[in-house]
Amino acid sequence: MTRLHNKTAVITGGTSGIGFETAKQFVTEGARVIITGQDEGRLQTAAQELGSQVIPVLADVRSLSQLDNLAARVKSEFGGLDILFANAGIGFFAPLEVIDETLYDNQFDINVKGIFFTVQKLSGLLNPGASVILNASSVNEKGMAMGSVYCATKAAVRSFARNLAAELGDRLIRVNAISPGLIPTNFQTKMGLSPEALENFGNYIKQTVPLGRFGKPEEIAAAVVFLASDESCYMTAADLVVDGGYMNI
Ligand code: NAD
Repeated sequence: MTRLHNKTAVITGGTSGIGFETAKQFVTEGARVIITGQDEGRLQTAAQELGSQVIPVLADVRSLSQLDNLAARVKSEFGGLDILFANAGIGFFAPLEVIDETLYDNQFDINVKGIFFTVQKLSGLLNPGASVILNASSVNEKGMAMGSVYCATKAAVRSFARNLAAELGDRLIRVNAISPGLIPTNFQTKMGLSPEALENFGNYIKQTVPLGRFGKPEEIAAAVVFLASDESCYMTAADLVVDGGYMNI
C-alpha cells in the first residue's frame, strides 16, 4: 500500500466526507498531506485523527489571500507538490424561485471560483508528473429538478479539467475530474435534507442507480488515489464517474 510513497498532497476541504476519507487513504499509501478547511477547530480534530503525516492549514477557498498563505505553507513544508485534490464544495438544491442572489453567489464562489483560484495559486508549485483532481459531480452532465445552480457549478468544474489539462500538459501535469454520485455525507445535512427526505431519496436511488444504492466516501477516495497515483499516468482531461451507473444510463 505505498502507491503514493513520498508524494506530497493538498486536499481542500479535508475535514469531513470525501476529503477526509481521501486524506486517510493518501496517508495509508505513503503520502504527506496538507488538509485545508475554514474552521480551525474542525481542522485540528481531523488532523489529530489522521496522524502525524497530516498538516492542517486554515484556508477558505473564497479568499485569495488565504490561498496565497496556503501556497506559502506548501512551499515551506514540502518545497513542491505532487497531488492537488481540489475537493472543497457545497451543494444546495432548491426550486428556481427560492434561490436568491446570496445562495447563487456562494455556490459559484466556492465551487467554481474557489476551484479555479486553488489551482492557479498552487500551480507554480506543481512538480512535473503532478496530478490535479477536481471534485465535480455525476450531475455535471445530467439534468435534475432543483439542481440548476449546483449542477451548473459542477459542469464548470468538469470544463476546468478539460481546459487546465490542455494548459498544463506541456509541464507534464495531469488534470482530471472525479464525479461522485450520491454519497451520504455531511453535504446532505447542509443541503437541508431531513432523514425522511434522505430515505425518499434512497428509494429514488434504488430505482435509478443500476447498482441500487448510495456510494460511500471511501469508494470515491479509492478512485481519487487511482487518479493521484502513477497507475493513471496516461489519463488527463478525463472525468472519472463513480456513481453506481447513475449518470450514464
Ligand atoms: P462535506 O460537506 O463533508 O465536505 C465539504 C468540505 O468542503 C468540508 O470539509 C468543508 O469544510 C469544505 N468547504 C466548504 N466550503 C469551504 C470553503 N469556503 N473553503 C474551504 N473549505 C470549504 O461534503 P462532501 O460530500 O464530502 O463534499 C466534498 C465534495 O464532493 C464537494 O465538492 C461536493 O460538491 C462533491 N460531491 C459530493 C457528492 C455527495 O453526494 N456527497 C456528490 C458529488 C460531488
